[in-house]
Order: sequence, then C-alpha cells, then structure tokens
Amino acid sequence: MTDTIAPIVEQLFLDLHKNPELSNQEFETTKKLRTCLEQANIRILELGAKTGVIAEIGSGSPVVALRADIDALPIDEQSDCQYRSTKQGIMHACGHDLHTSVLMGAAYLLKANEQQLKGTVRFLFQPAEENFSGALHFIEIGALNGVDAIFGMHNNPNLTINQMASRAGPFSANVDRIEITVKGIGAHAARPESGIDPIVIGAQIVNAIQTISSRTISGLDPVVVSITKFLGGNTWNVIPEIVEMEGTVRTLTPDIRLKVKQQLTNIVENIAFSMGAEAELRWFDGPPSIINVAKWVDFCQNIAKQEGYEVVDFQPQLGGEDFAHYLHHVPGAFINLGSQSPYALHHPKFLVNRNMIMPAANYLANLAQLGLIELAKH
Ligand SMILES: [Zn+2]
Ligand SMILES: [Zn+2]
Repeated sequence: MTDTIAPIVEQLFLDLHKNPELSNQEFETTKKLRTCLEQANIRILELGAKTGVIAEIGSGSPVVALRADIDALPIDEQSDCQYRSTKQGIMHACGHDLHTSVLMGAAYLLKANEQQLKGTVRFLFQPAEENFSGALHFIEIGALNGVDAIFGMHNNPNLTINQMASRAGPFSANVDRIEITVKGIGAHAARPESGIDPIVIGAQIVNAIQTISSRTISGLDPVVVSITKFLGGNTWNVIPEIVEMEGTVRTLTPDIRLKVKQQLTNIVENIAFSMGAEAELRWFDGPPSIINVAKWVDFCQNIAKQEGYEVVDFQPQLGGEDFAHYLHHVPGAFINLGSQSPYALHHPKFLVNRNMIMPAANYLANLAQLGLIELAKH
C-alpha cells in the first residue's frame, strides 16, 4: 500500500513547496488538499473554514484528531533545490509543506485500513500557524467538537530523520507582545531641567526590565524579555515628549507569565512615576505555551520506539506554536520528528530531508489508529 501512496504524497510535497502561500491566503493549497482528499474518497467536513480543510475517516467515537499546518513565510528562498519556490518572497521555510504531506500520507494509509478503525480519525489541515490565528479559527468553527485526543507534529532540523523528541509539560513558550509608551515633557536639549526627558526614563526602564529574569524569577524558570524597538525624538537638539517601545515576553507556564506581567507593569509605571513622567504598558496575549499531557507523550514515545525511531530528550523552546490552543480544550501531545536540515527553521536555505515523509506518515497513522484503541479502554 505504501508503494502506491508514496508517489502521491511526494508529488504533493513538491507541488506545495513550489507554490507556497502566506497565512490566511492558502487558497490554492486548500484546493489541492481538497482534490487529494476527494480522490481518495475521504469525507470533508464543511465547517466554513476560510482556508484549510477538515476531513474524517471512520465513524463514531472515540475521535482522534491529527493536525498539520499548511502556511508559508514571507521569505525569499535561497536554496538551490530543483523544486524551489516559484513565488518570489514566499517560501515554505518552516516545513509546513512537509507536515501537510505527511498528514495526507497518514490519511491515505488510514483510508486503506478504514474497516479496522475503532472510531473516527479527524484531519486538521490548519491555515495561518505563522501568525498564530489558524488554530483559534479552527476551534471557533468547531474543528474540535467531539474530539477526545489530538496530536501534532513539527519537523526539527536538528534531529536526524530517525529521531523523535517530545516531553511532558511545557514544550513551547507563551509568546506575548508588549508596547510601552513613556510620556514626558519636551524641552530644549540645552535646558533639560525645564522638561521631563522620556529617553533617559525609557533607557532606565529597558535596563530595569532585565532584572525580572535575573532578580525576581527563579533561575530554573526560563524568562526572556526583549525590547526590540525604541523610538523617540527626531533631531539632535530637542528633548522629545514621547518614547515608544515594543518587544516580546517569553515564558513557559501560566504562573510565571502572570508574575512577569505584574512585575513589568510595576517597573514601567513606577520608574516613570519616580521621575515625573507617565508610562503605559500594553500587553497582547499571543499563543500560550504547549502543555503536553504526560500520558499521551508516553504513548507517542512508545509507538515511536516500536516504529524504529530513536526517542531523544527535548528541552522546551521559547518559540511559539499555536497548537497550544487545542490543548486547552482537548488532551494530547505535540512532538518533533527529525528533518535533518543543515539550516534552521525560517532560514532562506532551509531544506528538509524528504526521506522522512513516509515513515512519518506511517507513524502518525499508527498514532491515530492505536490512540482510538487506547481511548476505548477507558
Ligand atoms: Zn515557523
Ligand atoms: Zn512551523
């Protein structure tokens, strides 16, 4: 069976890589996925997704969901592979073309074995992971209705193609964005005493923020606060009235996230106040951290071993992944499989080892099939 499915999946991968589409604009990708599913007689759920597809195999409960993301990035591909992107400035530099093909492979494999399924497998071909809006959209339209467990996979270029990694508990970071405005009083640069200088105050805030991770949170809890934009003034001899800053906060747990938010607010408001200025912190929640369920991580690791993968340790990352939203509603696990790229994710030369595709498809198909049996036990 794998022999007939492999060329179809390979073709899909090459096609997606050549024709990447940005978040929420995956219209052609969606059409291709629908065609692939229809050709295999896999039923599509019409839940009103703007882009992306949701499909199902089998019947009744329990229900296991498998999720792949389908969007690309605004990066100009610099690899010299024969199937490089044909769209200037857009590239599958995170391997979502790979995830999509692997999930389609799993769907075809499971379809060929549909009579044996002890429930339903739902496939979420999710748009817009890169801007963290796709999972929320899918949850909103009911993609998780009736789902008992969910699994997701991201490729990991640092692992070889026979390696699998995951961990119980936090897997990715809470990815929050901040904006800070410091409002002082403008003045002549030669007479700072007649104004309130927001640049000096802003600089103090930037420095003080760095004490959050080093002085107020345990060294065992990873925290990153980065100010990535600092704007103020427009000439050399005038003290401006306002400084605007932007940045990001990365944490792993809900508790630490809250503590950092409170401490950040204290620092911003009180430093400004102590120097006669006003300051405001605006906090924008991004995707929460993935919190993997231990039981399902064990399950994924055991099947990986049976399939011949080497299971390796995984340190939580401070990057974000919107799969986290699903785990707030349904238990499950997010895992990494090796793609063995010499370049990192989001690098213009990122290139996966395609030999990982069919083993990964087999693995996901088994996760779903055995996941249904596991769920039926309880
Ligand atoms: Zn990415
Ligand atoms: Zn990604």
